Amino acid sequence: MSYSMNTYTRIPVAFTRGEGVWVWDESGKKYLDALAGIAVNTLGHAHPKLTRAIAAQSARLIHASNLYRIAEQERLAEKLAVISGTDAVFFCNSGCEANEAAIKLARLHGHSRGVDSPAIVVMDKAFHGRTLATLSATGNPKVQAGFEPLVPGFVRVPFNDIEAVRRVAAEDKSVVAVLVEPIQGEGGINLSTMQYLRDLRALCDRQGWFLMVDEVQCGLGRTGKWFVYQHARIEPDVVLLAKGLASGVPIGACLARGAAAAVFKPGTHGSTFGGNPLACAAGLATLEAIEQEGLMGNAARVGAVLLDGLRDALAGRPGVVEVRGHGLMIGVELARPCGELVAQALEAGLLINVTMDNVIRLLPPLVMTEAEARQVLSILVPLVRAFLEKAPSAVAARA
Ligand code: PLP
Repeated sequence: MSYSMNTYTRIPVAFTRGEGVWVWDESGKKYLDALAGIAVNTLGHAHPKLTRAIAAQSARLIHASNLYRIAEQERLAEKLAVISGTDAVFFCNSGCEANEAAIKLARLHGHSRGVDSPAIVVMDKAFHGRTLATLSATGNPKVQAGFEPLVPGFVRVPFNDIEAVRRVAAEDKSVVAVLVEPIQGEGGINLSTMQYLRDLRALCDRQGWFLMVDEVQCGLGRTGKWFVYQHARIEPDVVLLAKGLASGVPIGACLARGAAAAVFKPGTHGSTFGGNPLACAAGLATLEAIEQEGLMGNAARVGAVLLDGLRDALAGRPGVVEVRGHGLMIGVELARPCGELVAQALEAGLLINVTMDNVIRLLPPLVMTEAEARQVLSILVPLVRAFLEKAPSAVAARA
C-alpha cells in the first residue's frame, strides 16, 4: 500500500546511495547511471565538492526569504549572467516555474507594447512543464489531455521550420515572443539546426519579439558549451534553466538580457523558496566544479564516444530510424515502441530512459569517463540488437 499519489508508473527499484556514475539499490545491486535523474545529477552522485558545499551551507543558513538580500543568490546570479551573456536572473524551483516566469515576462512585454492578447510562438513536440500555462505551451496532446481549457496565447509551429514562423510573423500581430528548446528532450532528442536558431534570432530582432530558449534539459555544459545557443553564436533575450543547475537540489532560473531584464518590477513576480541560500550554494558548487574539472570538454569527448559507438553499432540497421545527439544528450530512435528496453537495461545494471515510446534516451552525468561510456555501450548495444532481431510483441505491434 502506497500513500504516494498515483501520478507515476514507477519502476520497482529504490536506490539508497550513489557515487560518481554508480548507484546501488536496497538489495545492494550496482547500476551504471546513464540518465542522471533525467539530466539532473550533473556532478554524478555524492560529489565531494557538492556535498561539502551543501553541508556547510545547511549548517550556516538554509532559508532566509526574498524579503532580504541573499548573498549566495547574488553570487549565483552574477555567475549565471557572466556565463550566459545575460543581465539579470529570477530564481525559482523547477523547470516549469522558469518557463512560467518567461511566459509572464513575455506577456508583460506585450502589454507594454500595447498588445491586448500577447501570444508566444511554440513548437510541435516541445515540453515546457506541467503547470497549466506550461502544459499549454507543450506540444504533446498526452500532457494536455483532460486539463482543458488550455491557457490561450500560444501559436504552434513545426520545429526547425523557419518559414512557418515567418508566416506567423506576417499574419499574427499579437505575437511577442518565441519559446524554443534548442534540443528537444522529452520530445525525442530533436536537435534544432544552428541556422534555425540564427534565423529565429534575426526574425525576433526584426519583429521586436523576445527569443526565449528553454535549456532546462539541454543546457549547463551537457553539449560541451555552457548553453546550446552558444554553439549557434546567438544571444537570446531569455534563457530558462533548472534540472542540472544545482546537481539535484531543486532550483530553477529565468535569465534575461537587455530590455527583457527590465520587464519585471517589484511585486510582479516572486517565489517563497526561489534562490534560497541552500539551493544557490549547491548551484555555485555545481558551476565551479564544471569549470574546475573541465566537465564541458569531458561532456563533448565522452558524448562523442557514446554517439560514435551507437552509430557504428546501430545506425542503418533495420528497425533503427536514427542515432542522434549532441554531447551527453543522446537519442536512438527505433521504428517501434521500445519501452521494454528500460527494464532489460535495469536488469543488466544500466539506467536509461525511453521517451516518445520509441526513442532510447541517454543523459549521463557530466563526470562520466570514456571507460564508463564504453561500459554503457557494452550493455546497451547487445540489448538493442536483440530487441531489433526479435519480432515485435503482439501488444507493441498493435500499438
Ligand atoms: N523544460 C524542459 C525542456 C524540460 O525537459 C522539463 C522537464 O523535463 C521542463 C521544462 C519542466 O521541468 P520541471 O519538471 O522541473 O518542472
